[in-house]
Amino acid sequence: MPGSRWTKPQIESLVDQIVHLSKPLPQIDIPGKTRAAINNQRKRLQRAGVLNGSFAGRAVRPWTFPELKRLTAFTAEYGFSASFIAQMGLLPGRSKDSISKMMGRHGLGNPAIKERARQACRLDPPRRAEFQRFLLGEGRLLPSIVIARQWGLAQKTVTAYRRRLGIQLSWREARSSDEYRRQQRKRAAAFVTHTRERWRQWRERKMLGWEKLRQQMSQRADCPSARVCQACGEQWYAAREFFHVRTRRSPAGVKTSYCRICRLCRAEQRRDPAAKSVRRLGRLFTAQYAVNSCCLR
Ligand SMILES: [Zn+2]
Repeated sequence: MPGSRWTKPQIESLVDQIVHLSKPLPQIDIPGKTRAAINNQRKRLQRAGVLNGSFAGRAVRPWTFPELKRLTAFTAEYGFSASFIAQMGLLPGRSKDSISKMMGRHGLGNPAIKERARQACRLDPPRRAEFQRFLLGEGRLLPSIVIARQWGLAQKTVTAYRRRLGIQLSWREARSSDEYRRQQRKRAAAFVTHTRERWRQWRERKMLGWEKLRQQMSQRADCPSARVCQACGEQWYAAREFFHVRTRRSPAGVKTSYCRICRLCRAEQRRDPAAKSVRRLGRLFTAQYAVNSCCLR
């Protein structure tokens, strides 16, 4: 239902409340206008440049396709929750709420957890008494997360009850459970994902720098000879910037040789455990350095 048009005095009052009184949205009062209407009008005035920067609004940063792809993997493959993804910084710049909303829009996330959130409720007095008896009795040594699942509560709620009852699990008790170890594994998996992601970003940035450097080198009068990386197949230049250099001293002089694979690929092989066995085969890198030996200038 469209509301009535904004009158001039209404707009003036709105501008006054924003610019001169610096009121936040909940405190702005325009008789006959809802909060949503006020919010929309404020946005329009801001875009029109009427508010002199008194209200900046929130910059909406649309989700990119790669971000969405990663979010899908984190939730579907690893079963991470929105708060977990935010906490570990797996999607830089995205808050827990932003991640949670996006998961909702794309039907991602654990259905059981979503249902539990929907059903979240306070315990009524009889049920509360029953719950406290359980915590003091048979549930005394059960991990909080197991109890939470059993009773349809949040883990935080269970630990809060335990704290109030003065029966928190000791450090040893809490860590001896299978559940704890499972959580530990999950955290470890998240850590690995996180590191890989940062590594990927680092490599991407590095690659851009290298492309620029290659361009610059090609225009130099003393441009080094071209050298193809045996791993990625990219053609770089035989220079320290791109290839690791080994120097060997002998009575005849100092010999330098360039690695067969570029620094990026070398770093990757050193990181990746699967590539380690390959590395061990060529121990001491003899095979990797043989070509392009030359005397140091
Ligand atoms: Zn390479």
